[in-house]
Amino acid sequence: MLRIVNTNRLRHTVSLFSSRCALFNSQGSEEVDLVVIGSGPGGYVAAIKAAQLGLKTVCVEKDKTFGGTCLNVGCIPSKALLHNSHLFHMAKHEFTGRGIDVTGLALNLPNLMKQKNTAVNTLTNGIAYLFKQNKVIQIKGHGTITDPNIVTVTKSDKTQEQIRTKNILLATGSEVTPFPGIDIDEKLVVSSTGALSLSKVPKHMILIGAGVIGVELGSVWSRLGAKVTAVEFANHVGGMGIDSEISTMFQRVLVKQGMKFKLNCKVTKAEKIGSEAVRITMQDMKKGVTEALEGDCLLLCVGRRPYTTSLGLNQLKIPIDEKGRIITDGQFRTNYSNIFAIGDCIHGPMLAHKAEDEGVICAESIATGKPAHINYNCVPSVIYTHPEVAWVGKTEEELKQAGVDYKVGKFPLSANSRARTNADFDGMVKILAETGTNTMLGTHFLGSMAGELINEAVLAMEHGATCEDVARTCHAHPTVAEAFKGANQHVSFGKAINFI
Ligand SMILES: Cc1cc2nc3c(=O)[nH]c(=O)nc-3n(C[C@H](O)[C@H](O)[C@H](O)COP(=O)(O)OP(=O)(O)OC[C@H]3O[C@@H](n4cnc5c(N)ncnc54)[C@H](O)[C@@H]3O)c2cc1C
Repeated sequence: MLRIVNTNRLRHTVSLFSSRCALFNSQGSEEVDLVVIGSGPGGYVAAIKAAQLGLKTVCVEKDKTFGGTCLNVGCIPSKALLHNSHLFHMAKHEFTGRGIDVTGLALNLPNLMKQKNTAVNTLTNGIAYLFKQNKVIQIKGHGTITDPNIVTVTKSDKTQEQIRTKNILLATGSEVTPFPGIDIDEKLVVSSTGALSLSKVPKHMILIGAGVIGVELGSVWSRLGAKVTAVEFANHVGGMGIDSEISTMFQRVLVKQGMKFKLNCKVTKAEKIGSEAVRITMQDMKKGVTEALEGDCLLLCVGRRPYTTSLGLNQLKIPIDEKGRIITDGQFRTNYSNIFAIGDCIHGPMLAHKAEDEGVICAESIATGKPAHINYNCVPSVIYTHPEVAWVGKTEEELKQAGVDYKVGKFPLSANSRARTNADFDGMVKILAETGTNTMLGTHFLGSMAGELINEAVLAMEHGATCEDVARTCHAHPTVAEAFKGANQHVSFGKAINFI
C-alpha cells in the first residue's frame, strides 16, 4: 500500500473511485515510477500505456475533467458541431434534390449544444474509467516540478501534496494565442473555446485566421446561418502544410458554400463597439489599401502556444525555445534524464494523434529503456469541413524546393462511382511519388471521407509501399477509397482505368 502525504496536514489515504488506492510518501519510503502532468491525448494515453507496462503511474490534471484540449474544447466538441451543422445544412439545401421533402425544418441550437456536451461528457468520463481499469492513479490539481524527483500538486482547496517519482512526463498542452489589443470575453470576441458554445447564431462572424480551426468553426456557423468572413495574413486557406493546388480547390468549395475570404490581409486593429458589435481594421498587403469590417462576433483563431505556466521549468532550469516549447531530444528527454515532454508543449504539429503517438512511444521507452522513434513524415493532417481535406507526407511545393524528382497522379472524385452515387463529388486525390522508385512521398485528398481515407495512405507510407503496391491492392467497390487506388494507378502506369 502506498500513502499520500499532505504537506499541509497529515491526510488519510485517498479514495480513488470505489477502491482505496495508496500512493507514496515524501520522506521517500515509497515512490511511484512515473508522474504524468496533464491528461490530454498525450498525457492520458502515456499514463495508460505506462501502467499497462507495469509502471506505478500517477496522472495529475488541473482541470475538472480529463481529456485536455482535445476532448473538452477541441477535436471532440468541434467535430460534434461540424457533423450536426452539416446535417442541418444538407436538410436545408440538399434534401429536396435527393427526394426528401422536409417541412418545418428549424435549428434547435440548445439541443445541438446538448448533443455536443453529451459526446464530450461521455468521452471525458471514459478516460476516468480507463484510468481506473488500468490502475492509473488520478490526482486533480495543478502539478509543479519542485525537484527532479518530486511533483507538488496544488489542489482546488489550496492544499498541497507531494509525489516522489522516478520519472516525470510533461504533457501540459497548449492554450489560445491572444490577439494584441483586444480582450477575449467569449461572447462578442471569442476564441475557439467560446465559438463552441455560442448561445445564438451571429449575423456576421469575422474570423481572424483561416487556418484549420478557423475554417472548421467558420463552416459550422456559416452552415447554421451566419455570414462568415475570414481575414487571413497568408495567401491561402487551410493553414500550414496544405498543398497549394488542394488549398485553391478547397477555397473555391468553401466560397460556393457561402464563406468569404480576405487573403493577404493584415489585421491592424480590432475593437468592440458597444456591447453588440466589433470592428476590425485591416490592410490588404497586395493592394496596399486599408479597409474596415464590422460584425457581431469576432473569432480569434491565430494559433495556439505551449502552456507551461507554473510548471517549475524556471526553477529547474529546463529550457524552452523561442516559441515557448519545452526543448527535448529525439527521446523526448529534457535536460534531465528522468524528465520527459510530449504533445503540444514540445516541437511539431499541434495534433491530438501526434501527442498520442508520442505518449505511447515515450512511455514504452521509459518502461523498457529502449530508444523512442516516431516518423513525423507519416503524421497526417485533417480539416473536418465538408468536403474534408486530408494529407500526409510532402506537398508539391516542398518537393520542388528540395529538388526531388517527382511525378504526380490524380483522380477526381467526379470519376468515382461512390462519390457520384452519393451526389457528393467535390474534390480529388493527388499522389506525389518519387520518379525512379515510385515511392509514395505525399498524398493530398479533398473530398468527403478524406479524413478516414488518408489513413490508407499513412499505412502505405509507414510501411514503404510503392504506389504500384497500392494500385494493385484490391479495393471494395463502390467506395470512395477506389479514388485513392485510381490516383495510384495514374502515378504508376500513366493512366487510371476509370478516368482519362
Ligand atoms: C478547436 C480545436 C479543434 C481541434 N481539432 C483537432 C482535431 O480535429 N484533430 C487533432 O488532431 N487535433 C485537434 N486539435 C488540437 C488538439 O486538441 C491538440 O493537439 C491536443 O489536445 C494536444 O494534446 P496534449 O495532450 O499535448 O495537450 P492538451 O490536450 O492541451 O492537454 C493538456 C492537459 O494538461 C493539463 N495541464 C496543463 N498544465 C498542467 C499542470 N501544471 N498541472 C496539471 N495539469 C496541467 C491541461 O489542463 C490539459 O488538460 C484541436 C484544437 C482545438 C483548439
